[in-house]
Amino acid sequence: MFFRNSSSSITEKQVLAALGHVDDPDLKRDLVTLGMIQDLKIEGKQISFSVVLTTPACPMKEAIRNACLNAIRLMVDKEAEVRINMTSKVTADPGNQALPQVKNIIAVSSGKGGVGKSTVSVNLAVALSRLGARVGLVDADIYGPSIPILMGIGQERPRLAQIDGKEMLVPFERMGIEIMSIGLLVPPDQAVVWRGPMASKALKQLIFDTAWSNLDYLIVDLPPGTGDLHLTLVQALPVTGAVVVTTPQQVAVAAARKGAEMFRNPQIRVPLLGVIENMAWFSPDDAPEKQYFLFGQHGGQQLADALQIPVLGRIPIRQAVSAGDDAGLPERVLQDPVLEPAFRSLGEEVARHLAIRNATQPPPSKVQVAMG
Ligand code: ADP
Repeated sequence: MFFRNSSSSITEKQVLAALGHVDDPDLKRDLVTLGMIQDLKIEGKQISFSVVLTTPACPMKEAIRNACLNAIRLMVDKEAEVRINMTSKVTADPGNQALPQVKNIIAVSSGKGGVGKSTVSVNLAVALSRLGARVGLVDADIYGPSIPILMGIGQERPRLAQIDGKEMLVPFERMGIEIMSIGLLVPPDQAVVWRGPMASKALKQLIFDTAWSNLDYLIVDLPPGTGDLHLTLVQALPVTGAVVVTTPQQVAVAAARKGAEMFRNPQIRVPLLGVIENMAWFSPDDAPEKQYFLFGQHGGQQLADALQIPVLGRIPIRQAVSAGDDAGLPERVLQDPVLEPAFRSLGEEVARHLAIRNATQPPPSKVQVAMG
């Protein structure tokens, strides 16, 4: 009171100047420039605004809130009463114009089968959905579509609906996730003999002719391996980023590396978001703190280093994944004290790296390939 002129009132300009000193740690630009400060209101010494982050459940949320508070106290008025509403809005891939109601398409790939690609796809979808995002899941693994089983849909056939005069597939919904699988449309014995262009046509149909609602993330579980089929599958979709699943085993790492290089093919150029190391160690139920490295150690990190991308998560081997019947996998994972935090953290990292990608990279150019 003594030092301040009581008639001087706080202005919007002062507040924004102070918040202009607070950087988003990932995007490395200030919150004002990034357009993250919204609904700013000032009444006397009361200041309120929203900080709109780009990922749901951002791990840096509290640090950003405190930085805003300190900036205002330090640079505007140390007695200001500040109310900050921390919210989030997932950013969209600027390069995806083909499927406008989907903000980000994530391709889940692996060099070889059996490394847990489908297990990871399902539980990543659940983790992102539990963080508050709208999520869809597509099973594109024509060799062995397993997502309907893992998500408890079984052999049900999808419904068709007329939407804006067009016949569309209605996705299934489980645990708040919209699901569609190539296995629900074609008998598996036919799909295995498909050539690349046929499979890519079916996948295109599956994705573009499904009546998705507005989704933050659409996860696509690709078939394992690399080759013409994969090339055409990835070319068919506006993929925002790909993740690579591997075990720490050298044979899996070598195959994953080959697979990952496909995404860097000049005809494709899909950004690689990072590596997911599955079966990283085994933790027994009666001693979950113990770690047995059955398949060796550091394989995921080696792959990440070779590709110069981060490790997004490490998932241990747990009985909850493989034990019992296959129905209810996500529920078992959510109840597991080791897997639940591992997948939650994986979801946060995937969301974070997509947000960084969307903020820092130019939109992917449209793939133009002559298909022979
Ligand atoms: P992919 O899709 O790569 O072929 P799956 O997701 O079908 O692999 O997994 C292969 C097998 O390994 C399945 O039987 C699955 O239950 C098991 N599995 C995958 N990840 C784990 C894990 N973290 N812990 C225990 N079993 C796992």
